Amino acid sequence: MDDKTIKKVLLSIYERLFTRYGPQKWWPAEETFEVIIGAILTQSAAWTNVEKAISNLKASGKMTPQAIRQLTQAELAQIIRPSGYYNVKAQKLQAFVKWLEEQHNYNLKKLFNINTSQLRKQLLSIFGIGEETADSIMLYAGNKPVFVIDAYTRRIISRAGLAPPKSSYDVYQTLFMSNLPANTELFNEYHALLVRLGKDVCKTRPTCNQCCLNTADTTDTEHSYTEYSCATIIKQSRS
Ligand code: SF4
Repeated sequence: MDDKTIKKVLLSIYERLFTRYGPQKWWPAEETFEVIIGAILTQSAAWTNVEKAISNLKASGKMTPQAIRQLTQAELAQIIRPSGYYNVKAQKLQAFVKWLEEQHNYNLKKLFNINTSQLRKQLLSIFGIGEETADSIMLYAGNKPVFVIDAYTRRIISRAGLAPPKSSYDVYQTLFMSNLPANTELFNEYHALLVRLGKDVCKTRPTCNQCCLNTADTTDTEHSYTEYSCATIIKQSRS
């Protein structure tokens, strides 16, 4: 598929999602540090459980890097227990705040002044921070124009017929970042909308008849039964 078509398809998907769902107002947090905590706690967890862990941190007065630094791992694990995998997540949060103190004197503004590629390298060097978490922190806490790839994104993009030949994180990220303008607001909203669609409609068993990306014309005899209904966006974008 040529680059022009890919660009058109990606924008068409975004426009359809935005028209259906509207702004998602991500990230649901009161301050930057809370976004970072949420990005780490949400690994393998439903957001409702993360919210409970965040409420516990706030209620106990521990929603600051300095306060988390003072806790033992066992104390922190008890507070964030609702988020699941609480022992390892306590370890991850402590690794992050220790690093933040040692490398940046707890200064988040200074942290996010670092250029995007350097910052990504630094975040990836911290225990428990992988690509998706690092990119979520950069986009949603640092307002950096990076596209976050997750399981919902891969599933929808592949069903729409845009799956890159390799399924690595980098390749999926390049698909978006090379074909869309480097715009933080767009990347923020687009990712949030894909998550919304993945949770509501494009599940393991998709309900395509309720999907805003379903552009299939039932009288179209060329529409292959092996394709998902959203794959027709590609044909329409070529015309
Ligand atoms: S048309 Fe079906 S497969 Fe395609 S994005 Fe919608 S729900 Fe998923």
